[in-house]
Amino acid sequence: MKRVQALVIGALAWSAGAATAAGCGPGALGTERTITLKREGALYGAQQHTALPLEQGEVVLTFDDGPSVRNTPLVLKALADQCAKATFFMEGRHLRESPDLARRVVGEGHSAGIHSDTHPHMMALSAAQQLDDLKLSRAAYRTVFGVDTPAYRFPFLEETPTLLEALRSADITVASIDLGINDWIPEDTTEVLAQRLRASLDKAGRGIILMHDANGPTAKAMPTLLEVLKEKGYKVVHLEWEK
Ligand SMILES: [Zn+2]
Repeated sequence: MKRVQALVIGALAWSAGAATAAGCGPGALGTERTITLKREGALYGAQQHTALPLEQGEVVLTFDDGPSVRNTPLVLKALADQCAKATFFMEGRHLRESPDLARRVVGEGHSAGIHSDTHPHMMALSAAQQLDDLKLSRAAYRTVFGVDTPAYRFPFLEETPTLLEALRSADITVASIDLGINDWIPEDTTEVLAQRLRASLDKAGRGIILMHDANGPTAKAMPTLLEVLKEKGYKVVHLEWEK
């Protein structure tokens, strides 16, 4: 019941987006609206959990595995050129390596959560090791941003009972996905990734899109991928969390 109420509140707490922000003309993809979620142990993403309250044709852009000095700036540039806001799920080890880049991501209006500390297969770890990884990544986030992370995405989307319980009791939202583009193969071309995005969108029609800002081919393809969203008439919804 608590989760249903949160969905309603989240759905109402939107504001006008940045589609007409300075620097972005009417031709830009833009950001249609923002959903501000409560800080709570909710679970979102239709592949594993409850769908976000999105209309047909609405998508949330999410990026995992960064920040990456080599690739994240390219993603930020493509998003800025289209005035599109996204959510970045960062690894603790990369937060420690690149704190300034992580702060730049949030400084440019995007939101951030964590994606484990070192991207292990959690199911292969003991409960104590899983909790240790969570503790390290939360500490890294707190050091960089000065606040606790509001959200977590499991590496490989492999959930464990130990971490699900730890996240729930810490009021950290689990962010799963609705669709992805399988963007981890180094040889992927921009056209291959664009084609995968078209196919995933045609199947799902809405939802949270998983991409990887740390992946070179994705970063390179990002201007084209955003064009695909625009061509197909998709609207970007930005996820934020209460402070
Ligand atoms: Zn990942």
